[in-house]
Amino acid sequence: MRNAFGLMLMSVAAATLIAAGGWFWNSHRSPVAPQAFAAAQATPAPVHAKPLASRDPIETTGSIPEKTPAAPALQPKQTCANPDALGVSRVVEIDTTGGPGFGFEHFKQIDFLADKEVVLSFDDSPWPVNTPAVLKALADQCTKAMFFSIGKHATFHPEILRQVAAAGHTVGTHTWSHANLNSKKLNEQTVKDEIEKGNSAVKLALGTAPAPFFRFPELQHNPAAMAYLGTRNIAMFSCDLDSFDFRAKSPEQVINTVMTKLEKQGKGIILMHDFQKHTAEAMPELLRRLKAGGYKVVFMKPKAPMQTLPEYDDALIKDMKMPVATARPVSSVVQTVSQ
Ligand SMILES: [Zn+2]
Repeated sequence: MRNAFGLMLMSVAAATLIAAGGWFWNSHRSPVAPQAFAAAQATPAPVHAKPLASRDPIETTGSIPEKTPAAPALQPKQTCANPDALGVSRVVEIDTTGGPGFGFEHFKQIDFLADKEVVLSFDDSPWPVNTPAVLKALADQCTKAMFFSIGKHATFHPEILRQVAAAGHTVGTHTWSHANLNSKKLNEQTVKDEIEKGNSAVKLALGTAPAPFFRFPELQHNPAAMAYLGTRNIAMFSCDLDSFDFRAKSPEQVINTVMTKLEKQGKGIILMHDFQKHTAEAMPELLRRLKAGGYKVVFMKPKAPMQTLPEYDDALIKDMKMPVATARPVSSVVQTVSQ
């Protein structure tokens, strides 16, 4: 799939959306009530991405514009105050029909990056301090990235996720609670609930549908989950280059890992975590190093927004409501019966 020019439309097998009948995700209450969203310190940290032994690539279908020749308006319209900015060299629009897979660590079918081209991507968004710091570094370099948001984090900090979208970045999803969807403990329904509740939570936080872009927590996928995402026309993202920033002991280590791998591989989708402090601190220098190294940023955005499932949207809104008892007037809870 290395056609140099033109659009390559792969055949897409029409798939039937799994009929939803009477299911519902387990009625576990959210660990943090909606009225406590702002209390970041009360929220648990997620399980971070772990390295994964390579798995065999699994076939996916979909379509993507490949190495599109120069076209007008590839640069973002906003003016950039930094004359030496990294910027965005190319914008690609992704047709997510059939759930195409990206990132050669696991999905090896779609090779659309030229030498020296990189895609910046961040997982576990949004989080206080670190996500805004990443946003500032990106803005200072007039460049764009993809963010994969955990549903729970989106409900904890919707205002931060809206800043990500407002800055023009692509916001995809990363499950509701960062569950390992390849775990034997999860049945088909639970996997679906993790994906869809996450999608609906990100939509609720943003106030608009996210991109139909999904990254498996810990890069753990399996054929059943991939087939499901295919039926939902949601693109799957692995990466070409894992920063392992969640293990890094310093910002310098994040920078060195990324630059060393890039020098070897020459291009790729870079996986980082805006959730991580060292990554946030590394970003200004890492972006300068990318520019100095002659790397160019490709910005991936969807052709169409994600279609969330209304039953999950509705259930999430219900689930987020305050407990009934707290909405009752005091007089209905406390009655003087003897004085
Ligand atoms: Zn993650």
